[in-house]
Amino acid sequence: MIRCQSCDGILTKNEKTCYRCGDPAPEHAKPVQNLIPLLLSAGLMVSLGFTAYWFWLGATP
Ligand SMILES: [Zn+2]
Repeated sequence: MIRCQSCDGILTKNEKTCYRCGDPAPEHAKPVQNLIPLLLSAGLMVSLGFTAYWFWLGATP
């Protein structure tokens, strides 16, 4: 049994969207939900890398 993440309504496996609030079913929304934190962490790593790089540049004479 799948439950809606927004309104906690019960969804059947065949339902792609919640009948109560219209949100996508967790099963179908999963790839997007996993992708966003991945992109955020990747962006964070890049910005941290650049900060370390510029700090290193500033530290070296
Ligand atoms: Zn819902």
